[in-house]
Amino acid sequence: MELPSSTDGCVYFTRRSHPKGTIIAWAPREKCTSCKKSFMGKPVDKKGKIRIRSTEYTCKDCGNTAQKEQYESSLTANVIYDCPHCGKHGEISVPFKRKKAKIVDPEDGKTKSVEVLRFPCSFCKKDIDVTKKMK
Ligand SMILES: [Zn+2]
Ligand SMILES: [Zn+2]
Repeated sequence: MELPSSTDGCVYFTRRSHPKGTIIAWAPREKCTSCKKSFMGKPVDKKGKIRIRSTEYTCKDCGNTAQKEQYESSLTANVIYDCPHCGKHGEISVPFKRKKAKIVDPEDGKTKSVEVLRFPCSFCKKDIDVTKKMK
């Protein structure tokens, strides 16, 4: 598994470190399912700025649109990880589906509800949660 050369081609990219190592997860963009020519992306406004907050993805070639959640859940997430439980190093591809989970923020000790990408470690089978950086 190779790391993406640039995060531009990714809908999601995160690198997290923990006491036993690092977890890197990313979801590459995928081509429009309708025309198969272009990558789906956030819509662009008249001035050429990307509307980051849009809840839709669109194809600039054929105008096909998809809801953000629907599009993102069709993607695949690739993960290179050091397991926080058993410490082994592995790689996995999982459907890019995020779920809400309660996580204790290590910085202030408060429990927060965050979106996580959850997958089982190939070695110890325990769940590994990848969170976006907490603020
Ligand atoms: Zn298209
Ligand atoms: Zn493990």
